[in-house]
Amino acid sequence: MTSTASKTSTVSETSTASETSTVSQTTSTHQAPTASNHSGTPNFRRSVALALANQRLGLAMDRATRRQDNARRTAMPELPDPMAARKLAARIKDHTLQNLDKYLAQLADNFRKHGGHVHFAHTAEQATAIITDIARRAKVKTIIKSKSMVSEEVHLDDHLIGAGFEVVETDLGEYIIQIDNDKPSHIVTPVLHKTKEDIAELFHRKLGIPYTTNPEELTAAARKVLREKFRTADMGITGVNFAVAETGALCMVTNEGNGRFCASRPRVLVSLMGMEKLVPRMKDLALFLKLLPRSATGQRITCYTSLMAGPRRPGDVDGPEEVHLVILDRGRTGALAGPYRQALRCIRCGACLNACPVYRKIGGHAYESVYPGPIGKLVTPLLSGLGPYYNLPLASSLCGACLEACPVRIDIPSMLINMRYDLLKRGQSPLLWRIGFKFWRLGMSSSLLYRMGAKMAGWYMRLIAHNGFVSKLPLDGKVWTDQRDIPAPAKRPFRARWDELMAEIEREEG
Ligand code: SF4
Repeated sequence: MTSTASKTSTVSETSTASETSTVSQTTSTHQAPTASNHSGTPNFRRSVALALANQRLGLAMDRATRRQDNARRTAMPELPDPMAARKLAARIKDHTLQNLDKYLAQLADNFRKHGGHVHFAHTAEQATAIITDIARRAKVKTIIKSKSMVSEEVHLDDHLIGAGFEVVETDLGEYIIQIDNDKPSHIVTPVLHKTKEDIAELFHRKLGIPYTTNPEELTAAARKVLREKFRTADMGITGVNFAVAETGALCMVTNEGNGRFCASRPRVLVSLMGMEKLVPRMKDLALFLKLLPRSATGQRITCYTSLMAGPRRPGDVDGPEEVHLVILDRGRTGALAGPYRQALRCIRCGACLNACPVYRKIGGHAYESVYPGPIGKLVTPLLSGLGPYYNLPLASSLCGACLEACPVRIDIPSMLINMRYDLLKRGQSPLLWRIGFKFWRLGMSSSLLYRMGAKMAGWYMRLIAHNGFVSKLPLDGKVWTDQRDIPAPAKRPFRARWDELMAEIEREEG
């Protein structure tokens, strides 16, 4: 697998065969066409409206994310002191980020000592050019890939296919996404938005097998295609979950074993990692290997944990002849130097997505970015610019569920508030918000104005209410009442009843 976590692509209500791949069993949830588009100018509001209109998608996402969230809630308390482990993981990540230059140099030195080649890419274009060049020089025809969010980030498949290579995704979820020309909707379970009926129809159409919703038959059909690709591919591309600076080893965790095939069968291996995916020592890795699967899928450990260091040595039964590590910056250095460094602690477990009430409702495609959900709202503007993604920091209830779930304690809500302030400074926050908050500030600075404002607002809402509820507010209030009614305020506000309530309590207390 990947630069995400222990993933569990799903084909089923029951897991199939030796793989934990699944195609969830819900009603059809195909997203609206534009919602699956990660390229072009993002139109978040439109995508959200389309996603919200798809009630079956909302139900399916809610069911799937709650299942994963519940699994995390069961698995994490099994650690002796979960909060201490999470705080330690956060400290290790902060220390690593503080000394990233030192640890990157150490990693590169040790990786080279094992006989590997190290490449640094500042941009997505450089990363894809480096990998394309490696493939050309090695006279590669077929490339097999295990799951990698960084490769999604740089649109690696498109570039390699454009350069004339055959590229095959081998993670079951990613394979389904690839043959359906779709995009992942979750960083750990990319086909969370698809049902087994969707996949049955897809496999019937694309692989020519009889229509079946039997998970084992679907998995077997994919395996048959993929085994042949594993056997004949010249080059493998993998993500990196953690790179250990002390040893130069790359750690990859998967549930399907496809990552191991990609790393060991072809003669050339390229591992692609974001520059923040480092841990200083092997003993640090042990902690993260406990936190990652528990947070991602509620597993105690992932099915396959692989450590890779250098090409095949004399006496090895398998392994590549040539090994490359491509380390991607693409905005990470800027994030490292700024106030949002904490976001680089992320280990891509997806727990914040599963816990988020907004993500649960709209799914991953609506974000129109590679990284959806709470962490996507931070990382996407950091890596791709706040300008086109100005809506993302605003799309949060700030309920704190993401912070509560995050194994490395990233304070996403506080950073989203700071990003909103950035928007305000850039003049990019919505005009109505700016006017509204100006009035709010005015009202809050004077009790007379506050009382007058509250009285007028109460009077207006009671005027437009029917049977005690307001179902249509004007301006931005419409966003709320489009989804649910709001109770009309009481005639006598809480403030006016305060003395009576206190007297009542005193009487009751005797
Ligand atoms: S922000 Fe935290 S919870 Fe979300 S994906 Fe990253 S590590 Fe996991």
